[in-house]
Amino acid sequence: ALILGLESSCDETAASLVTSDRRVLAHRLAGQEAAHRPFGGVVPEIAARAHVEVLAPLVEAALADAGVTLDQVDAIAATAGPGLIGGVMVGLVTGKALAHAAGKPLIAVNHLEGHALSPRLSDPDLAFPYLLLLVSGGHCQLLLVEGVARYRRLATTIDDAAGEAFDKTAKVLGLGFPGGPAVEAAAARGRPIVPLPRPMKGSAEPHFSFAGLKSAVVRAHDAKTWEVDDIAASFQAAVVDCLLDRTIRALDHAGGATALVVAGGVAANTAVRTALSGLASDHGLRFVAPPLWLCTDNAAMIGWAGAERFAAGLTDPLDIAPRPRWPLDPGAEAVRGAGV
Ligand code: ATP
Ligand code: MG
Ligand code: FE
Repeated sequence: ALILGLESSCDETAASLVTSDRRVLAHRLAGQEAAHRPFGGVVPEIAARAHVEVLAPLVEAALADAGVTLDQVDAIAATAGPGLIGGVMVGLVTGKALAHAAGKPLIAVNHLEGHALSPRLSDPDLAFPYLLLLVSGGHCQLLLVEGVARYRRLATTIDDAAGEAFDKTAKVLGLGFPGGPAVEAAAARGRPIVPLPRPMKGSAEPHFSFAGLKSAVVRAHDAKTWEVDDIAASFQAAVVDCLLDRTIRALDHAGGATALVVAGGVAANTAVRTALSGLASDHGLRFVAPPLWLCTDNAAMIGWAGAERFAAGLTDPLDIAPRPRWPLDPGAEAVRGAGV
């Protein structure tokens, strides 16, 4: 099947054409970094307007790149949440309009399912179930991925997401926006010599926490005794330590997992990938991480999740509502009032 995928849940507008035999025929992406940079973070209203302006031309460009018309598409997959509601509405309404006009089925995709299944687009051998570390701008979770639409959440963050910690650290250190790649570049120049805490490390609870680490970065920076690059290197080492410790704990509860998998924007970080790869080989597990372009937001992962859902017979009515919050595992208990 041929799926048109649309993504607009944060500050990336994207359109892609993906086949169920894993060919990415087109993937177009329009970032909005320049528009948000003066504010040091994503401004929802600016993001929504930008999505409105660029999504339709991006769809046309993607169709042209792939050399197909809308008539040849089998289904249209659009992110329906979670994310910034204005942007999600733009993508979902566009998907509905195209589906209605072309008489094609609509697939409302959970953005997190896009991240969660993206490793199966790049790796045809990745089978269910697998243990997934989902690390992105808004989420930090360990999930047992049992199948399409079947997720068991083993852990989540009780405060900040991992990517959020990178972004806040970049802001504190004056490294600019977006923060993850800037902190990684600074860390490569620095030495991990600044003492920083590892929140939740060794805890009997399964969850993550990064707020205390961020506060410690603020104090280290205020002390004016450390080089920025050294603070960045120490912060990154602490995050990697926390991710590893929590993943090791989850492995005890992930019986039957065929692979250790990482996805989401923070999965683009080389130190994170290297550490997890080592952990997987220690446990005799395969390690799977998507290529960097598939880690950060894109529409190929939405098209791919659409292809997986389409194959499972999962399509959605045209009156489906966008969801700013939408947990992948609705059965998972809320954690101390934190989000999903
Ligand atoms: P979510 O998927 O939770 O809704 P999002 O879509 O905004 O959030 P992604 O696009 O998946 O998040 O990931 C963006 C996050 O990844 C940002 O916080 C960014 O700083 C982080 N990130 C990107 N590249 C790197 C990197 N090389 N090292 C560390 N973090 C990175
Ligand atoms: Mg982004
Ligand atoms: Fe994302």
